[in-house]
Amino acid sequence: MEVARGAEEQHPVRRPALFLDRDGTINGDRPDYVKSLAEFHFLPGAFAAMKRLAALDLPLIVVTNQSQIGQGITPEHVIREINDYLVREIEAHGGRITDIYVCPHAPWEGCGCRKPKPGLLLRASEEHHIDLSRSYMVGDRVSDVAAAMAAGCRCVFISPGMSPPAEVVSMNPEVIVRDLGEASEYLEQVIGSMSL
Ligand SMILES: [Zn+2]
Repeated sequence: MEVARGAEEQHPVRRPALFLDRDGTINGDRPDYVKSLAEFHFLPGAFAAMKRLAALDLPLIVVTNQSQIGQGITPEHVIREINDYLVREIEAHGGRITDIYVCPHAPWEGCGCRKPKPGLLLRASEEHHIDLSRSYMVGDRVSDVAAAMAAGCRCVFISPGMSPPAEVVSMNPEVIVRDLGEASEYLEQVIGSMSL
């Protein structure tokens, strides 16, 4: 007897995800870009936060602007090497990264994937069957909040300073926290109470 494939099987139910900015959120940022493994370091508490997030049954997807590729500052293979290291170290500390999406374009190329544009989030939502309206973006830049809003995601803004930029406050992110550790505690609560 032949069993017809159900519609759900062909179009799996979309699920929420967590999108994470990289530089300034998981690892330290630099004004002149993180150009090598030597310039890459995890922020304090990042491993513990990633382990906490890994316990949530959601895809954890890094979305990062790396215009240094398009600007010819750093070759793409070096960025890949840094991202591989990021994943390995997080896994070694009990966390996980489901996927990493990189915008390699220079600002002047006018691509649709450089945050604040939502292209990386939209591509990930197609490839990982993500329900953007129930997903969160975690980041420390105005462009992260803008990308989240443009994609229809909720937003956790990381503001390590005393007060967040007025521009961010006016965009009304769901919550403003001090670091990824606080973000993970918040997400644990809200995702935990969400019916997945
Ligand atoms: Zn791009």
